[in-house]
Amino acid sequence: MPKKRDISAKHAEPSVKLSARGVTRLQGRHPWVYRSDVVRAEDLPPGSLVRVLDSREKFLGTALYSSSSQIAIRMISHGSVADLPALVAERIRAAIAYRKELVSNTDAYRIVFSEADFLPGLIVDRYSDVLCLQILTQAMDVVPVREAVLQTLKEELQPAGIVERVDARIRELEQLPPLQSRLLWGEKSSTVFTMNSTMNSGVRFHYDGLEGQKTGAFLDQRENYAAAAQYAHGEALDVFCYQGGFALHFSVDSAVDSALPSALHPAGKCSNVTGVDSSRPALEMAEKNAALNGRELEWIEANAFDLLREYAASGRRYDTIVLDPPAFAKTKRDLEKALGGYKELNLRAMKMLRPGGILVTCSCSYHVGAGDFFEVVADAARDAHKSFRVIENRGAAKDHPMLLNVPETSYLKCLILSVSN
Ligand code: SAH
Repeated sequence: MPKKRDISAKHAEPSVKLSARGVTRLQGRHPWVYRSDVVRAEDLPPGSLVRVLDSREKFLGTALYSSSSQIAIRMISHGSVADLPALVAERIRAAIAYRKELVSNTDAYRIVFSEADFLPGLIVDRYSDVLCLQILTQAMDVVPVREAVLQTLKEELQPAGIVERVDARIRELEQLPPLQSRLLWGEKSSTVFTMNSTMNSGVRFHYDGLEGQKTGAFLDQRENYAAAAQYAHGEALDVFCYQGGFALHFSVDSAVDSALPSALHPAGKCSNVTGVDSSRPALEMAEKNAALNGRELEWIEANAFDLLREYAASGRRYDTIVLDPPAFAKTKRDLEKALGGYKELNLRAMKMLRPGGILVTCSCSYHVGAGDFFEVVADAARDAHKSFRVIENRGAAKDHPMLLNVPETSYLKCLILSVSN
């Protein structure tokens, strides 16, 4: 653990000096400066609050320092910061207020999204009465900051439990001591949450903060579930379904937008929904979620690439297909391979769509830009010899804000297409 220190003393913080390139980045309103652009950083304790200076010692603001990440500093303010825990508390309150304005019809949403809420390295999700937090930087891991986070969340949201989900790989990269995922406060670590409650009574999901491969749900897809459900019809295949997000939204009576031309939603609801995933625990949870909503769906444990190849070859047809694969490109170097993966999936799905069919196709790889994704999907349509209309071109839900000058905050792409011929 970093040594305890008085971070509130005026000008007691150490400073870093940036290269001209580092200064240009900050002037572009990007909060990150890489280690190669820090020209002087003497004996800085891990996770310390640092004053940021240009080469002529002009003060540019205050940042969080990491002794191990390639991203050496993350700006937290363009002014001075006298009391980091107090600033963190204030930013959390602002993040909650932002969601109050923009998020409705759900009791599950992201409350704090790291840089996009000016809190680098802090993620907080709400699942009804259980909160789940993740700490991803040295600075957010120091005891007074952790205490401020907990205190503010308790005061503002009165949860029944607060769980910490640990990303072991990130803690190792940040050279933080290993921790177990655990209940941090309160008594409750599992609950039931509801999304899109405009759709009848909404779609209900189980949440277990101490189980599962992820923090619980892909909350960033919440608005896309409701959007896609408006057009989903007939026989539907949800590929990479995880715990059934899209599939369940397609099987409850959808709030069909009456303004839509009826040709886009002939059934208004799917006659049959099948979810596909390679993870058995995810499908077991999907099955439990279906029961919670009083629905019976079919779940298939399979490698999606193999299954689509087999189905396409045997002439299977669907009216609605969702493709929501994991991030294929974890780094820039994976881009070509990732594009190949998207092309293959989209091509097979497009071939399997009946006339008037709907394709919901997603990419959550930041390294695959919106333009790249559009191009690869268009390429697949060309090879499938079919024309598609883009009904909706979407991104992450509003509780995952995107910062205009920080492209890293924009990663999710979701296209809703209809086959024209
Ligand atoms: N659509 C989901 C999120 C999908 S996340 C939702 O809205 O909740 C990606 C999913 O792909 C994970 O559940 C993972 O288990 C699954 N997956 C990864 N590789 C796979 C593969 N080759 N075949 C099938 N599923 C795979």
